[in-house]
Amino acid sequence: MSVAVPVPYLDPLTYNVPTSYPDLPPIGARVRVPIGSRTVVGCVVAHATTDAGAAPRDVAGVLDEEPFLPPAIVDLCGWVADYYMAGFGDAIGAAMPPGSRRSDSFKTQRVVWATSHGLSAVEAGSAVAPKPLGGEGGSRADISLTAKQQAALEILAAAPGGLSMSALRDRGVSSDLTRRLAARGLVAVRAERDERDPFERAAQMDVTREDGRLLTEEQQAAVDTLVGLADAGGFRVALLHGVTGSGKTEIYLRLADRVCGSGRQVLLMVPEIALTPSVSALFRSAFGTRVAIQHSALSNGERHDQWQRIRRGEVDVVVGTRSAVFAPLANPGLIIVDEEHDTSYKQEESPRYHGRDVAIVRGRNSGALVVLGSATPSMESYQNAVSGKYSHVTLERRVLDRPLAAVRLVNMREEYAEGGPDVVISRALGAAIEQRLARREQVLVLLNRRGHATAVFCRQCGDTFECPNCSVSLTVHRARAGWQGRCHYCNYSMAVPTSCRKCAAPYLETTGFGTEKIEQRLRERFPAARVGRVDRDSVRRKGALTSLLSKFATGEIDVLVGTQMIAKGHDFPRVTLVGVISADVGLGLADFRAAERTFQLLTQVAGRAGRGERSGEAIVQTLYPGHYSIQAACRQDYPAFFERELAFRRGMRYPPHVAMINAVIRGRTFAEAMHAATDIVRSLEPSAERARFLILGPAPAPLGRLRGEHRVQFFLKGTRRADMRTGLKDVLAQMPDLKRRVTVDVDPLSVL
Ligand code: ADP
Ligand code: ZN
Repeated sequence: MSVAVPVPYLDPLTYNVPTSYPDLPPIGARVRVPIGSRTVVGCVVAHATTDAGAAPRDVAGVLDEEPFLPPAIVDLCGWVADYYMAGFGDAIGAAMPPGSRRSDSFKTQRVVWATSHGLSAVEAGSAVAPKPLGGEGGSRADISLTAKQQAALEILAAAPGGLSMSALRDRGVSSDLTRRLAARGLVAVRAERDERDPFERAAQMDVTREDGRLLTEEQQAAVDTLVGLADAGGFRVALLHGVTGSGKTEIYLRLADRVCGSGRQVLLMVPEIALTPSVSALFRSAFGTRVAIQHSALSNGERHDQWQRIRRGEVDVVVGTRSAVFAPLANPGLIIVDEEHDTSYKQEESPRYHGRDVAIVRGRNSGALVVLGSATPSMESYQNAVSGKYSHVTLERRVLDRPLAAVRLVNMREEYAEGGPDVVISRALGAAIEQRLARREQVLVLLNRRGHATAVFCRQCGDTFECPNCSVSLTVHRARAGWQGRCHYCNYSMAVPTSCRKCAAPYLETTGFGTEKIEQRLRERFPAARVGRVDRDSVRRKGALTSLLSKFATGEIDVLVGTQMIAKGHDFPRVTLVGVISADVGLGLADFRAAERTFQLLTQVAGRAGRGERSGEAIVQTLYPGHYSIQAACRQDYPAFFERELAFRRGMRYPPHVAMINAVIRGRTFAEAMHAATDIVRSLEPSAERARFLILGPAPAPLGRLRGEHRVQFFLKGTRRADMRTGLKDVLAQMPDLKRRVTVDVDPLSVL
């Protein structure tokens, strides 16, 4: 019997069922099985086995007589494991409800490892522990360690793959101690499965739907087409491409109603529940207790109960984020992926699946209609729509013929010439905000970069503050005690001193700006205005995001500054102005999707203006007013952007023109990572030649160091994904020692 076990990247293992059990446990049942000296909870995935190796060990216990996971979900997990080159257990773990996994089984684990900072501290040992007498020599004293800290770091230094919090506790290292080490940047902590899903109270928000509202002509036509596809009862994918404010939610509701009436269930996926509150709230008001909303504000117990209700068939509609794609619905007839272009559908931990793509596979397996909704479809989906693989339904107008926001570009080079290099809010934007405040209308201001400043440097010697673990400079935040430098990748932080560490000159300066500085400038310039800020720092506290959004909705905030979080599907009817501070923030990234991201972000945020009775305007500040992604976003011309971008992707051989796999190899040194990558690439060359796919690299990753490890990457590009996967799988199977240090990303969204 084959059992998927909760060990990263591992294929199913073979076990024997002792004759004392009358029957084989069914596929989808949980069993306790031995691995090495431990016993873990695994899931039966097949009765036949392919393993011809040593005599299998016995199952230690059977937890379920009936399948716990429906066999269809086990199948789907098998597809995920194979397609994304993850372990079967990783995929099963993604599908399991919380609480169904005993200790040591499919649980989210927090993994801890020593950073290079920590490693050098432990190497220096207790020799530097006594603090120097004078106030001098600060940086050495920085890494003075207590005996307990030293012991903890020694344990971690011997475990390059890191140790879980619970393993550390077993060895006498308390979580408190770990946290203190993390605060000093000596260790890094990461949740192995980390799905942020800040639902909070938003979906319980009271939204009553006007019953019997008349659909617009366009909406009606879209509903007719989609109902026709749903009634046909087979698998089909449709792209619902509707401009912002065209009323897509209403269409989802009508379709869901129809499909539920036919006795099948509905799965609605949203990128993040708190950021798409109206959709979930509307579904709750329309379907009452027959809807289950999966979100993390529920306790594990409550989530488990919801999951069991779905499993028992008491639920017609499931609303949830990407992991809801594994919801145990018996016979889904409609799967909707709202804002299908949104990058939060991609899980950046193993299994690195894309919720939208798994939704399509689930739709195919269960003969369902899959509706992908967006105002800015991904290149992949739109290409499938133009090629006829997907049905293509478009909504070109906003409901009630409200016009799309007029977009005005401001060339920041001219602003700098006029007002000096310190300008962040242009004259046009400043004047427009003033006017809106006078008219008691609301304003959104987007800057997709958090923090106060982007870097600190010494004006005398040019020294800068880099993260000791990652190859990025520390972002400056304002803390109570002064400036604080923080790494946005590993969370390392340090107080910024008042004089230079190298030359002792007191001329430290900051450059660049983020949301914190915009907030400050707005408060200075418009002291009477109520200004709020939404970014990952301001919403860290549970409930903070919902509270800020609802304050804005009720008019207690006049100007809301934020990162891309404010650009998502919100419907704030009193917003008549959207300001974009640096439209080109993302264009500088060495990522082939940079232009697509920029276009999506600008179109989405401009779409937040003028959704009520008064028409809206967007003012976009940029250094590159001529760039095609900015130009097309201004005209809200999706097809023009698509044509231009597709030509670029074709020329450079990037998706969707070709399929792509990214492999990142980590090492303690650059040479180690490079050698390993070169070995893999060499072994892969024969199959690349045979199957005609390209290998690019190995080369240093744009983010050359991350969390204390060096990173080297290579890409596979070709038309047949299966050949590339098989080739890479075979090579890695022969290098078991290396496998742990290789991260494979199939259809990567980000290649940094
Ligand atoms: P989208 O998701 O396409 O951006 P929404 O579904 O949020 O758009 O709808 C935009 C606004 O239009 C919402 O306030 C919604 O209540 C309203 N709306 C949708 N359909 C209609 C209609 N047929 N008549 C009047 N208002 C509508
Ligand atoms: Zn870092």
